Amino acid sequence: MKELVFPRLLVPTVERVPDNLAVIAEYDDGTSYEATFAQHLDRVLRLKRALAEGLGLGPQDRFAVIADNSHRYLELWHAALFGAGVINPLNARLAVPELDYILNDSQVETIFVDSTYAPVVEKLRDTTALRTVVLMDDGDGAHDLRYEDLLAAHAPADHAEPDEDAIAVLMYTGGTSGKPKGVQLTHRAEALTVYRMDFAYRYFGVDDVFLMNTPMFHVAGCLGLMGMPAAGSRVVILPRFDPGTALAAIEKHKVTRLGVVSMMLAMVMAHPDFTPEKVASVRAIAYGGSPMPDDLMRRLGEAFPHSELFQIYGMTEMAAVLTALTPADHRAGGGRTRSAGRALPGVRLRICDPVSGQVTPTGEVGEIVVQSGAAMTGYWNLPEETAQVLRDGWYYTGDMGRLDDEGYLYVTDRLKDMIVTGGENVYSIEVENALSTHPAVAQVAVIGVPSSTWGEAVHAVVMVRPGEEVTEQELIDHVRAKIAAYKAPKSVELRTDPLPMSAAAKILKRELRAAYSAP
Ligand code: ATP
Ligand code: MG
Repeated sequence: MKELVFPRLLVPTVERVPDNLAVIAEYDDGTSYEATFAQHLDRVLRLKRALAEGLGLGPQDRFAVIADNSHRYLELWHAALFGAGVINPLNARLAVPELDYILNDSQVETIFVDSTYAPVVEKLRDTTALRTVVLMDDGDGAHDLRYEDLLAAHAPADHAEPDEDAIAVLMYTGGTSGKPKGVQLTHRAEALTVYRMDFAYRYFGVDDVFLMNTPMFHVAGCLGLMGMPAAGSRVVILPRFDPGTALAAIEKHKVTRLGVVSMMLAMVMAHPDFTPEKVASVRAIAYGGSPMPDDLMRRLGEAFPHSELFQIYGMTEMAAVLTALTPADHRAGGGRTRSAGRALPGVRLRICDPVSGQVTPTGEVGEIVVQSGAAMTGYWNLPEETAQVLRDGWYYTGDMGRLDDEGYLYVTDRLKDMIVTGGENVYSIEVENALSTHPAVAQVAVIGVPSSTWGEAVHAVVMVRPGEEVTEQELIDHVRAKIAAYKAPKSVELRTDPLPMSAAAKILKRELRAAYSAP
């Protein structure tokens, strides 16, 4: 089958609005780039031929990318989705040993790199299977070929469509809970994701301008990588997330849509230059990756008064989108804003007891188990892990949650982050929500630490807002006033430095926990 493939989405758009501006990219050195839809597709198809004829890659051969966001990174994505090869976008912020682990796992031989990360790739050459290094920009760095030379040497390929069932993407998970795992996704999974995002966010179209500032190596970026171009929207690319640069780009390009993780919104709103007028063009904010703290949700309504909110729940393994919480759901307020919304078309949700595997009665907390046509085919190189999570056509997410009788999903915690203290289950997110309503709390993570009395004890690590002062006991009392006493932290560590975060701006609780389990 070839119906559910990305070219079927992008090509009609290019035919409809060939001269609309499709891509704007702004770079650190002050240069910028612009392309219309026709120009963009021309470059993508040249790249497709260059990958085949210039680099000898077959449609199922993998190529890695280590780079900041750029128009060329977008082209590499689209070339892969046109069947030129399997894209393996790598987290550019990982350290050399971590990248070494992934490259030895994937055995990729061809890599695209920008001059920022060329020195990193140089260090990896001897210890990995890397053979061909393509330098993406005009800067310095060891390389075998340059991107623009490759493009110039090849005429555009035709639109020949890939097979739905063929692998298009090898994407490593965020590594929040352990070593990153290589997720293999098909062309169908990627195309279905576009349909589902369009359904979830509705009405995106040719008048929209999307700010692409989440990293292109992470699933959070798929709205900007595939969804917005397919809909004929303009994409404004920034090399990486920076609150000040994002704010300036929103104002300059009259950005209408943002796709973010909630932490990024907090940083933009906290920027000294922030005013609601500067972001008045923003009509819709899609967020996901983790729940939005209650307090942030409230401040968001004031800071972005013209904007509707959408929440998405999903993960790399399911090509990112499973449920959506709509603007109407957000407006309904109450407990509903704590929900991740309802299943998107074609997605089935179940809550199962993590021990017995039985489906739990409505309203009870258990593991979130899902069925979706956009499921990964499996983890690369990890047959046992794959068999553990993909069972009888269902994917076991490792997330805990419950469904209400209207089908709204509430994500309570990761199975691994749940704290069992004195025989009671405490969901770290609930305690974090309570703590984050205290004005002195800038960032918070709640973890379980070993305790001879409780098995595990609830412990909070708090970054105190600059200029504020607070004591451990004040915070504990604050939580006790809001939720059951057994859920309140037994201890609080106050810090002035930010908490350790993954490249997707998630707090790395395993790093915080490691400090307590060290011998
Ligand atoms: P790893 O699997 O390597 O530990 P990761 O799970 O963080 O990393 P991703 O696939 O990027 O990697 O993240 C998906 C996870 O993020 C989900 O399984 C869930 O725990 C969390 N998540 C995503 N969206 C939401 C949401 N709307 N609400 C709550 N949690 C969410
Ligand atoms: Mg995961």
